[in-house]
Amino acid sequence: MPVALVTGASKGIGAACAVALAEAGHDVGIGYGTDADGAEATAAAVRAAGREAFVHQADVSDENQAAGLVSAVEEALGPLDALVLNAGITRDGPALRMDSEDWSAVIDTNLSGAFYTARPALRGMLRRRAGSIVAISSVVGLSGNVGQVNYSAAKAGMLGMVKSLAREAAPRGIRVNAVAPGYITTEMTAAIPEQLQERILEHTPLGRFGTPEDVAAAVRFLCSDDAGFMTGAVVSVDGGLAIGV
Ligand code: NAD
Repeated sequence: MPVALVTGASKGIGAACAVALAEAGHDVGIGYGTDADGAEATAAAVRAAGREAFVHQADVSDENQAAGLVSAVEEALGPLDALVLNAGITRDGPALRMDSEDWSAVIDTNLSGAFYTARPALRGMLRRRAGSIVAISSVVGLSGNVGQVNYSAAKAGMLGMVKSLAREAAPRGIRVNAVAPGYITTEMTAAIPEQLQERILEHTPLGRFGTPEDVAAAVRFLCSDDAGFMTGAVVSVDGGLAIGV
């Protein structure tokens, strides 16, 4: 059975990706940072879809813990066929007032954490000459955003990472792609002030916010053989928010 690892899979987009990959036939490693109950709920949903689940706690901003997550999942379920780099945080604020801790926390988790997880996974994939990696970037990695200099920089950095890894790994048949979600209804976006939410909706041509399942469908596709000729791509799942960016 193919094996997938999803980081930050205790809730939101990560949880939906874990379930979607289980429905597509993967046994799933569920990485989580702090929410053990959420991770167990995701594991229950994966098992309900008829696949094996393995839960492991790791702070991906710590290189050793990220590597430990990859090896624990490979030991429990087998070599990775798919990796979803989803763990992420926000620490929003105007650039001039953003303290360096908020800058570093977001870069360390969203960008370095993705790299620290991708590298050990890639090592095994290169040996086996198979595998697919999908990074969850963001529309603001393409457009930038007021109050999100740290988050936008990390998400844009992920795109550079994805394109570079795609070039390095392509000769061995490994594909590396990114998904750039727009506004998706999760705990992360629940904190956005209502007025700003309305403005985002006005700029979303499809006229609704996205769901975690909207993003998970693109991730499942990118991990499948149907996407066999796609690498280094950035797939927008944003209701049209990024048109013109
Ligand atoms: P969420 O807050 O619901 O989930 C984030 C997940 O990441 C959680 O499981 C959390 O525990 C985990 N996480 C955070 N820091 C971690 C760390 N140091 N180590 C391990 N795990 C950690 O958010 P979400 O909306 O589901 O976002 C998932 C991803 O999608 C994030 O990378 C986010 O930036 C991205 N994204 C979200 C939206 C949106 O509108 N919700 C839009 C674009 C991109």
